[in-house]
Amino acid sequence: MQTVINSPADLAALFGLPVETATAAPAAAFAPVALSATAFDLPRAPKLPTSKATKKTAPVIIRATVTPASAALATPNGLNPDYQLSGVEKIRAFIFGGNSIFTLANKEKGTHCTYKVTCKKEPGRTVYFVSVLSGPDNTSDYSYIGYCTSDKAQKIWTKRDAKQYTDNAPSVIGFNWLLTRLAHCIAENKPFPAFAGFYHVGSCCKCGRRLTTPESVQNGIGPECAKK
Ligand SMILES: [Zn+2]
Repeated sequence: MQTVINSPADLAALFGLPVETATAAPAAAFAPVALSATAFDLPRAPKLPTSKATKKTAPVIIRATVTPASAALATPNGLNPDYQLSGVEKIRAFIFGGNSIFTLANKEKGTHCTYKVTCKKEPGRTVYFVSVLSGPDNTSDYSYIGYCTSDKAQKIWTKRDAKQYTDNAPSVIGFNWLLTRLAHCIAENKPFPAFAGFYHVGSCCKCGRRLTTPESVQNGIGPECAKK
């Protein structure tokens, strides 16, 4: 007779063992073991930068933020830091006040140029005349370089036959840069660049009289002219 073994019970019967023992033993041996999460390989924690890498990059970041900022903030010699205007809308309003004198400085290059902008009201438009300080007397030695007809202008028109103040003259380039940059800053809601400095000379942009109160010095316009 052929013995067919299909289960632990058949095996137990074959060897004359009690069924409970034969079935209980394998059940215990193969009972699933509850594994805790720690038994598995957990995903590895992201690699932390080594101390060598930290030392390499940290000082570079510090240098990149501190050095150029402090260099850009220095006011060129001879210019009064209290007279600096920094808001782009304020600067543009000052330039086109009608009677303004101001200095535009490139703090990185150490160069600067002083301008005077007057205006003349004509039917339907206002013409702004731009002059540049070109001699030792800062009240009278101004040379005409060009004009524009709107405070939104991005360029002044120079004389076609000008020998000295052409579009390539540094003073004309500086003034046109100022107009273009102000238009861009206002349109894109960006601050006036830190490397550039805009300084009034302590006089009101509308009437040209001396500014005396702290508030008027800060804004470049006297209290009476500010009301108009
Ligand atoms: Zn005034």
